[in-house]
Amino acid sequence: MHIKRLMKGNDKMAVKEFKAESKRLLDLMINSIYTNKEIFLRELISNASDAIDKSYYRSLVDENVTFNKEDFYIRIVADKENRTLTIFDTGIGMTKDELENNLGTIAKSGSFAFKNENELKDGVDIIGQFGVGFYSAFMVSDVVTVKSRAIDSNEAYKWESKGAEGYDIELCDKETVGTEIILKIKENTEDEKYDEFLDEYKLRSLVKKYSDFIKYPIKMLVKKSKLKEGSENEYEDYFEDETLNSMVPIWRKNKNELKPEDYDQFYMDKHFGFEKPLKVIHANVEGMVSYNTILFVPARAPYDFYTKQFEKGLELYSNGVLIMEKCADLLPDYFSFVQGLVDSADLSLNISRELLQNDRQLKLIAKKIKDKIKSELLLMLKNDSEKYNEFYKNFGRQLKYGVYSDYGMNKGELEDLIMFYSSTEKKLVSLDEYVSRMKEDQKFIYYATGDSIEKIEKLPQTELIKDKGFEILYFTDDIDEFAIKMLMKYKEKEFKSVSSKDLGFEADEKESQKETEENKYLFDFMKEALTGKVKEVRASKRLKTHPVCLANDGEVSIEMEKVLNMMPDNQNIKADKILEINTNHQMFNAIKKAFEEDKDKIKMYSNLLYNQALLIEGLPIEDPVQFANDVCYLIK
Ligand code: ADP
Ligand code: MG
Repeated sequence: MHIKRLMKGNDKMAVKEFKAESKRLLDLMINSIYTNKEIFLRELISNASDAIDKSYYRSLVDENVTFNKEDFYIRIVADKENRTLTIFDTGIGMTKDELENNLGTIAKSGSFAFKNENELKDGVDIIGQFGVGFYSAFMVSDVVTVKSRAIDSNEAYKWESKGAEGYDIELCDKETVGTEIILKIKENTEDEKYDEFLDEYKLRSLVKKYSDFIKYPIKMLVKKSKLKEGSENEYEDYFEDETLNSMVPIWRKNKNELKPEDYDQFYMDKHFGFEKPLKVIHANVEGMVSYNTILFVPARAPYDFYTKQFEKGLELYSNGVLIMEKCADLLPDYFSFVQGLVDSADLSLNISRELLQNDRQLKLIAKKIKDKIKSELLLMLKNDSEKYNEFYKNFGRQLKYGVYSDYGMNKGELEDLIMFYSSTEKKLVSLDEYVSRMKEDQKFIYYATGDSIEKIEKLPQTELIKDKGFEILYFTDDIDEFAIKMLMKYKEKEFKSVSSKDLGFEADEKESQKETEENKYLFDFMKEALTGKVKEVRASKRLKTHPVCLANDGEVSIEMEKVLNMMPDNQNIKADKILEINTNHQMFNAIKKAFEEDKDKIKMYSNLLYNQALLIEGLPIEDPVQFANDVCYLIK
């Protein structure tokens, strides 16, 4: 509709129209490309920075042009009274033609063309490429005015537009080379408070958030107050020029120039955490895809780390301009505790910059980052075990969870990073250390599960293995045994629970079978008395001094039964339990005697022994009152 009314050749029309497709695009743009209105400032500042870069480039290739760093800056001026916000730069400026071509045609990027025409040398990283960023100004303004004077020109031009209707160009006055973008900020509506874009504090924080690492100073006159001269309590306002951005991103600085305190300070400035990070990784990577990254391993897990609320991700920058605050795709879940940022010029961004055009480069970066984190953690494990322990205390669970989740897809990545408490070393050890210490005749990596190290230490099931001088890993976390079942083996060595039916000692197993056979009637009778509770009663070889314990057969262990039954939707899964009796224990003689004299007593004894075994495992007794009465009966 508009398009026809504004057809070219209509003499009454003073206003020049946007190219037809541009008008539809502009509507689309203003209303749907960006989800966040505040990014208009980032876009205009990026353009200003590009314009200064172009001047700098001219100075490199043209002897007649000099570049004095002090002369190049960006200035923001907010005028609340007139509701105008001005972004002023001392960059290369635009000629009349350029105003027309670059601002009159949507999706035409003068910067992109510039980049292609000049094979840019290092140090010039032009940000613009889509030719739409400028129009984001219309999200917050009714009128946009651009005054510009190009570098080789004596005249300046004014471009003005109210949006989709078209634009106007005329000669104007402008003393210096560069560009001024003047936005007439919209009136507030019920949903939007446009006023805030005239507010000093808001502008300052927007610059910090999106444009902190633009390499030219972004200046603003800010209101300050001081004591009136000669007065002790009267204050007066005054204005002072301030540079709002820090300009040089720390990650572009040379690593040798940076001290640990610099990283710590940056970490806190970014609000990544309240205390110094445990580990800093700073890498400048060149290759298939180039990027700079600073990664932090926090000293402590954030309070919400192990909850659903926790959001993982790294900040993503393109040429120093913030694109995404939490890019989740840059981190695998098992390293979700890592914080930091990535800056790359190689990303092909979606038109709004809020998304990436294709994630091939991102995937490549993510993979390299993952590898880097892993290798740094391995180094820490090897060279600074104290620090690694500190790390592991906070995030070990996440690593073990990573081994288990996604059907063990990432177990190979993580198996070298996980640790468990060792029965012989009395500290956390890696699987690699364990395997390197394995005895010649040791087939398995043994582990025992329980609520705490103290409790596992006393488990009857560990007796035989300790007796043989083998090391046992203690599993105290819910996730441990699940992770290990997923891992299955480490360096070809299978894991074996100290409670599993067959511990892999042939001689002992034969002995147990022989004794079980010898006492067949007794054990069958006991099994009968414990119907539905145990699958088998047999002579134990794993017990040395203790009278009784539970062993288990099959995939589900007793510890897993406990964990699974604590889940909200538990299916009452049961481990197959075996009651093992120490036939060398005094108690066994009494049982044998009772079996000949009083079979009823055997029923009670069976239940007593079974209940004791349950208590040792930390499992509840089905009928504690009966248990108490039985014990009293014996005392009597
Ligand atoms: P992009 O930055 O992606 O190229 P924009 O819509 O932001 O697209 O800007 C369009 C073009 O207008 C730029 O490529 C540049 O040629 C020109 N331009 C915009 N702002 C300025 C400025 N402050 N100084 C000089 N040229 C500018
Ligand atoms: Mg731009």
